[in-house]
Amino acid sequence: MTDTLSRTGFDIDAARKEILDYCLRSMEYGLNFNTQGNISIRVPGVDDRFLITPTDLEYDRMTPDDIVLVNGDSEVIDGRLGPSSEVTVHMAVYKRRPDVNAIVHSEPVFSNVWGVVGSPILGTLVNMVIYTKGDVPIMPFELSNNTEFGEHMCDAMGDLNAVVWANHGLLTVGPNLRDAFKTSVAVESAAKVQAYARALTDTPIVLEYDKLGITEAL
Ligand SMILES: [Zn+2]
Repeated sequence: MTDTLSRTGFDIDAARKEILDYCLRSMEYGLNFNTQGNISIRVPGVDDRFLITPTDLEYDRMTPDDIVLVNGDSEVIDGRLGPSSEVTVHMAVYKRRPDVNAIVHSEPVFSNVWGVVGSPILGTLVNMVIYTKGDVPIMPFELSNNTEFGEHMCDAMGDLNAVVWANHGLLTVGPNLRDAFKTSVAVESAAKVQAYARALTDTPIVLEYDKLGITEAL
């Protein structure tokens, strides 16, 4: 399989290293702790292949070789470890959203605050709205390790680029890993600002994506 990939010009070693780099950065930015969260990408130029972080392994103990190559049925194509327990959630997104090439799931504190409160993360910061394309909805709690969860989550997220799983965490998507990761950071920043703003007023000033006049995909 890796031979097939190399014929497409795809550098799987570089991609595995990039995923691990973003995993480590997610800890550095306070988005994840312990073995929380997971990251995946759609392999470009070939049908039905995805790279995803393995299950139950701390990021600071992970090596690029631990990143697992799977197909859309979540079966391991290449890898010595099993994929993330939330692999079916990632696959549900890739099936539903052809525009998505990368997914970042994390469990940051302020995003989770709004998940517990049950209120969307509003567009308090322009830097969030341009990436999420709107307020970040809250999906009611469900266990996340099954296909049904993925379907329900896609319903909640719609065409947006972020969704909060109540009592659990945040998932962001993008056309590439850099953008999906930037969206996670932006959502967590806006969630923090909203928490402070709501301590001072019930009516913080929020932006509406549709009124910003953004015509180009970011
Ligand atoms: Zn999680």
